[in-house]
Amino acid sequence: MKKPVYLDYAATTPVDPAVAEEMIKYLTPEGFFGNPASRSHGFGWQAEAAVEAARGQVASLIHADPREIVWTSGATESDNLAIKGAVAGRDKAHVITSTIEHKAVVDTCKWLEGRGVEVTWLEPERDGVIRPQQVFDALKPETLLVSLMLVNNELGCVTDIATIGTELRNRGVLFHVDAAQAAGKLAVDVTTMPVDLMSLSGHKVYGPKGVGALYVRRSPDVRIEAQIHGGGHERGMRSGTLPTHQIVGMGKAFAISQLCLEEEIGKLEALRAEFLGGLEGLSGVTLNGSDTCRVPGIMNLSFDGVDAESLMLGLRHLAVSSGSACASATLAPSYVLLGIGLGEELAHRALRFSIGRFTTSEEIAFASTQIVEVVTRLRAVR
Ligand SMILES: *Cc1c(COP(=O)(O)O)cnc(C)c1O
Repeated sequence: MKKPVYLDYAATTPVDPAVAEEMIKYLTPEGFFGNPASRSHGFGWQAEAAVEAARGQVASLIHADPREIVWTSGATESDNLAIKGAVAGRDKAHVITSTIEHKAVVDTCKWLEGRGVEVTWLEPERDGVIRPQQVFDALKPETLLVSLMLVNNELGCVTDIATIGTELRNRGVLFHVDAAQAAGKLAVDVTTMPVDLMSLSGHKVYGPKGVGALYVRRSPDVRIEAQIHGGGHERGMRSGTLPTHQIVGMGKAFAISQLCLEEEIGKLEALRAEFLGGLEGLSGVTLNGSDTCRVPGIMNLSFDGVDAESLMLGLRHLAVSSGSACASATLAPSYVLLGIGLGEELAHRALRFSIGRFTTSEEIAFASTQIVEVVTRLRAVR
């Protein structure tokens, strides 16, 4: 059977072949397999040098200092470390976040709430965007931390991090940003986006799964408490032997993204236009989220009179998702779509199509033709 067309880049991306090629060099006996923390021999030094080069590559994509990058197992761990690590040890804390954050932030904040931390849950407008003024209105004298995502993983909409961050900096409130869906998709620059903590993931940017990073600002100095204790790696913020091959892979992936960011955005804009253009003959199609304040690669669409489950079954040649990968094991509608006020019925009619580096024009044409066919057929038998 022919492989389905992969339209789920927001769930994960394939590893770029150039990245895989680099990673293999750090695994086998002929390669640089040493423990980067081994100080007594060349195996360790070579691995450490590779880790530091990768640290520079990840820092470079977001215009950070390499010393501000802490390796983690992924953006989920980065979110946990940022939020729990910032709140730990403070007797009084108020945290502000939103109802449409990734589960790694939502569930971490709920966990804190259960332990007596006050959390304010901001609700976005229908376009999925949290307005800076909403954040400012929710601030209290005891507010410690604001956690908001840069790009939403289900809708693709973009938060105005620069405006929010500037005000939070003035008020002395910590700002954590989950940029797992933003890195490699739009220009991320911590010199113009005043954030204190930023979560990154390898596998959303054509790197491997199981590796991520947390940006921790040095100036002004941000203090977080470790959540994993051990050998004191990563300046005490995150213990555990560094997975050299994963880290080298993430570094290479970020370096490639930095090189071809502009070109890739242009390509995805063109493919997006082709895809949506291909659906123009179909009535009753709604784009959920914002069509102006968004990245090009994510399109969340509702189809009148067709529920997402039947549509997905009909679209067996397309790999798509309803809601996020973490939520698609359940039949419950996406909390993100409910969070922008979509209502159960409309939320049940939504599918997320996400495209990326290896998507072709031919695949887009095939996908839109399939969608038109299947939606038309499902509506006819209703
Ligand atoms: C994928 C994703 C995560 C989780 O990243 P992992 O590296 O898979 O743990 C967190 N936040 C957002 C916005 C994501 O898209």
